Amino acid sequence: MSIEIRSIGIIGAGQMGNGIAQVCATAGFDVVLHDVSEDRINAGLATINGNLAKLVGRGAMAEDERRVALERIAAGPGLDDVGRCDLVIEAATENEEIKKKIFIALCPALKPDAMLASNTSSISITRLASVTDRPERFIGIHFMNPVPRMQLVELIRGIATEDPTFDSARAFITALGKTVTTAEDFPAFIVNRILLPMINEAIYTLYEGVGSVDAIDTAMRLGANHPMGPLQLADFIGLDTCLSVMQVLHEGLADSKYRPCPLLVKYVEAGWLGRKTNRGFYDYRGEKPVPTR
Ligand code: NAD
Repeated sequence: MSIEIRSIGIIGAGQMGNGIAQVCATAGFDVVLHDVSEDRINAGLATINGNLAKLVGRGAMAEDERRVALERIAAGPGLDDVGRCDLVIEAATENEEIKKKIFIALCPALKPDAMLASNTSSISITRLASVTDRPERFIGIHFMNPVPRMQLVELIRGIATEDPTFDSARAFITALGKTVTTAEDFPAFIVNRILLPMINEAIYTLYEGVGSVDAIDTAMRLGANHPMGPLQLADFIGLDTCLSVMQVLHEGLADSKYRPCPLLVKYVEAGWLGRKTNRGFYDYRGEKPVPTR
């Protein structure tokens, strides 16, 4: 039997978690947002508030709708708070150990028939599901960034995922007004299997001095008609997330063509993670982004 989903718990109130919370609340779901600290949750809520206010400012949303959507999102400082939801989506840092610890701690707090999902960009759904008490009700729901604007959601079944779980997840995504594509549970699924090696290659192109940040991004925007250059996109995704995805591809597929570029590693080691830390391949601290190389 498929599960009726009305309330959504979200673990991780970063750029993806707050985007998922926003689209769920706007579509009429009750949302509980959790993170490691109340400060992080409040920062996520403030971002949602700002994004909804921008929509109202542009005439894309009525003030009443904004108020109602915000009222649907509750802060959940404890895992018990998210445990009451019908579906819990984990959108924490892209690190397998962190995600596994979250699922292990969360399971005792869940309702017996609750569904679990991970928004991971690359990590095996089967492996994450295996640490839970309900691998048959576990699925990969991979939203794209920025969640409110991107149409696609990848659904990834783990080896044990049962049909009702898949059907409920698909109905949920459709209720959000988004389009589902399904991917098998292999490292980085479809979108990031293709996208991240391109970004990594752009970083190698910079590392080897073939072009500057500006030259590489201009080349791909105007020469390949990409809406954003690959280095600008890397900053947007988060360089820590880019590195994690390349590591998962490299280890999972054991092919040297996925070797993370040493320059990407260096940026992450410096804490230059892109837009979220105000510096990556561009420096965002001034009025206009300035290339850092
Ligand atoms: P982010 O760094 O913006 O946010 C991650 C959040 O997780 C932070 O607020 C952090 O405090 C929180 N967190 C860390 N450990 C936690 C714990 N133990 N319990 C609760 N919260 C914890 O990262 P993001 O870009 O939002 O990415 C989140 C997930 O979404 C990752 O799995 C990532 O791969 C995936 N994803 C990212 C993108 C992207 O473009 N950035 C796109 C699709 C999917």
